[in-house]
Amino acid sequence: MSETILSVGALAADLGRLAEELARLEEAGADWIHLDVMDGCFAPPILGDVALFKAIRKYTKLPVDVHLMVEHPELKVAQFEGADWITVHAEAGPHVHRAVAEARRLGAKAGVAINPGTHLSGAMGVINEVDMVLIVAVDPGFSGARFVPAALGKARKLREKFAELGIEGVKVGIDGGINLENAAQVGALADVVVSGSAVFKGAGPEENIKAFKAAFGRKG
Ligand code: ZN
Repeated sequence: MSETILSVGALAADLGRLAEELARLEEAGADWIHLDVMDGCFAPPILGDVALFKAIRKYTKLPVDVHLMVEHPELKVAQFEGADWITVHAEAGPHVHRAVAEARRLGAKAGVAINPGTHLSGAMGVINEVDMVLIVAVDPGFSGARFVPAALGKARKLREKFAELGIEGVKVGIDGGINLENAAQVGALADVVVSGSAVFKGAGPEENIKAFKAAFGRKG
């Protein structure tokens, strides 16, 4: 397993000062910027959109990692052209294969995400077409949701499956409810850890990103 990457959830930033916040994250050592997009249908809130994506893309050089929690992603992926990563949900409808193919056609790396209630098999149907499986550890869009520990078991099982099938180079991501208390446990199983509010809380990104990386066993 390579060094665990920290992808910082942009929605937790002060969006009124987006450019400054992105510069601050870059300076503080964030690896990627993660944008959650919810359409009010697949997930209850309406959050994150193409305008915000374009502003983020404009103001950061860091890889931008878009997580689409939307219905019919195959019809919407193209609006996020310029993203480095585009992840769609296995539960989002019958055309997930088309959505990940479209992400790759745009030049992005493609990911497939699964909710806490979805079996790993939901991701395995497109495993040869993706660069990441994102295990979502909270029910998307329900605020105050807590980390579902079964996500760790899923990540472990996914790694076993990769070994069994000889799959190499597909990242395992874990997203939702991750903070400095569970970062070491999550980081030991994930190539990519997504965290938003825990990065901005308390001492702020400068201290928190350092602490996350230390929890992942990284030196810098
Ligand atoms: Zn996300």
